[in-house]
Amino acid sequence: MTTIIDGNEIADRIRADVAERARRLNDEGVTPGLATVLMSDDGGSKTYVSMKQRACEETGIEGIHHEIDPGEPAEVLFDRIDRLNEDPAVHGILVQMPVPDHVDTRTVLERIDPMKDVDGFHPENVGRLVAGNARYKPCTPHGVQKILAACDVDTEGKDAVVVGRSDIVGKPMANLFVQRDQGGNATVTVCHSRTADLAAKTREADVVVAAAGVPEMIDGEMLSDGVTVIDVGITRVEADTEKGYELVGDVDFESAKEKASAITPVPGGVGPLTIAMLMYNTVKAASLQSGVPVDLP
Ligand code: NAD
Repeated sequence: MTTIIDGNEIADRIRADVAERARRLNDEGVTPGLATVLMSDDGGSKTYVSMKQRACEETGIEGIHHEIDPGEPAEVLFDRIDRLNEDPAVHGILVQMPVPDHVDTRTVLERIDPMKDVDGFHPENVGRLVAGNARYKPCTPHGVQKILAACDVDTEGKDAVVVGRSDIVGKPMANLFVQRDQGGNATVTVCHSRTADLAAKTREADVVVAAAGVPEMIDGEMLSDGVTVIDVGITRVEADTEKGYELVGDVDFESAKEKASAITPVPGGVGPLTIAMLMYNTVKAASLQSGVPVDLP
């Protein structure tokens, strides 16, 4: 029997926990605030930001949305970040990526006050994560850990294969798996576009996290019986649907399901967790900045 993991259900439970902590902060006169900044005309980015804002509303977080015309110079974005850094009502700042080509991504990430960096991408927060002293775990890999915990998949002593080495998913995922901590203690292999024989690696895995952004690149032939498969990939593929596209993961679900003991679907797997963990980090940020403790699970 293969478990089809319901990411929405797990995310709902986390959001309810986070909303309860937000209420506790509110009782102490602290309203958690998340500023989202969009400097893009891309439809996908707009959708993601509005989903994040909607999640704020549902969680008792004050969502403050800022839009900057993508034709504006980089300084406009930097000035906006500076103002948000100074604003005591803002506990978390999220600049929706990607930013336009004339804006340097690294400069953006370094400009955000590390205490307000709820994405966990500032070098200070990356360093803390690697050192085993994370302040804000990046939302998607943190969400993957929550999924595995919810499904009683213990990573200790297991072989975890992460496909993808990006700064936002692959690398932090590998770093979380390798920590001497709950949800860690795994033996980790990181695969990427230059990996010589991907299938040889994935076949050795007890847990595969696919985050390459290549539709259905991992099929059942590349997996061993009993593996847990977490599909982070989301690619819009043209399709004869109302929207003209469908969302496709990195895993060929039908053949992988035959091998897996548990597997996430796309959509409805990792995606909802990413947003839930953003709410989690925002409430944590409000707690850290206000000094009002909340015991986030
Ligand atoms: P990215 O493009 O920055 O990184 C992709 C990584 O995959 C690279 O490190 C590359 O080396 C590796 N890769 C590419 N082709 C490969 C191949 N053939 N074999 C092995 N490795 C290969 O992407 P990203 O930002 O890490 O996102 C990855 C995917 O996850 C995308 O589809 C993205 O949309 C999705 N994503 C989903 C969520 C979510 O909430 N579910 C969040 C973030 C990203």
